[in-house]
Amino acid sequence: AGLIEGSHLSKVYATATGPLVALSDVSFDVNEGEFISLVGPSGCGKSTLLSILGGLENQTEGVLLLSDKEHDGPRAEIGMMFQTSVLFPWRTIRQNVELPGIILGLDRKQQAEEADRLLDMVGLNGFGDRYPGELSGGMRQRVALARLLAHDPKVLLMDEPFGALDEFTRETMNVELLRIWEKTSKTVIFVTHNIGEAVFLSDRIFVMTPRPGRLEGIVDVDLPRP
Ligand code: ADP
Ligand code: ADP
Repeated sequence: AGLIEGSHLSKVYATATGPLVALSDVSFDVNEGEFISLVGPSGCGKSTLLSILGGLENQTEGVLLLSDKEHDGPRAEIGMMFQTSVLFPWRTIRQNVELPGIILGLDRKQQAEEADRLLDMVGLNGFGDRYPGELSGGMRQRVALARLLAHDPKVLLMDEPFGALDEFTRETMNVELLRIWEKTSKTVIFVTHNIGEAVFLSDRIFVMTPRPGRLEGIVDVDLPRP
């Protein structure tokens, strides 16, 4: 079996105007080390599916397995990143990156060293003692990427992580993400509504229908990566 296995996942939200079916009978498998993109029009349930995968929401129906165990809450093996990232403005960049590991009870000194190593890796060498307010949007997402990696989660769930950045910065970040993915053999699920980006990044693309979100098809991408 794969690392992540969803069977017949549905999600119905209760809203003021009645039940809203956001996801309908979605089944899939994700293998360890795969880079998956999740594409589909706005409102098709991509963020909902990612939230269920991250344990932030519970599915209404269906079963989600992580390493063959039922998965229904946040856990350390899973890291999430969003389009805009909240950094603590009164903490330094290094402290922002260390924080998840410290909360998880990892060794402080090791986390500080790891933070500096990761800041180097995302091109923020020397920025550890600066504050988030001094950074551009692209640099803040680099910090968020370093923070995402700091406690070494197995699975990265990324919801349009570079979608708010200008085209050039986004392409740079995508290339960087691929480099990191190749080095660390993480399993990535990456939400985007940009097909070009999905093709560029992924091993497989999960294509979702407009509401209610269903899995319409899975595309194997067989293109050489840079
Ligand atoms: P996408 O990420 O593909 O744009 P979403 O998962 O955000 O789609 O949303 C899917 C549908 O579920 C949309 O119709 C959205 O309005 C609805 N939805 C998402 N979150 C909630 C919520 N917390 N309460 C009610 N409806 C929601
Ligand atoms: P579009 O012109 O519709 O945005 P493209 O296929 O030109 O579609 O590119 C979409 C996205 O895919 C880019 O913004 C970038 O994020 C990613 N991408 C495509 N090709 C590359 C590349 N060679 N290097 C880095 N990123 C790329």
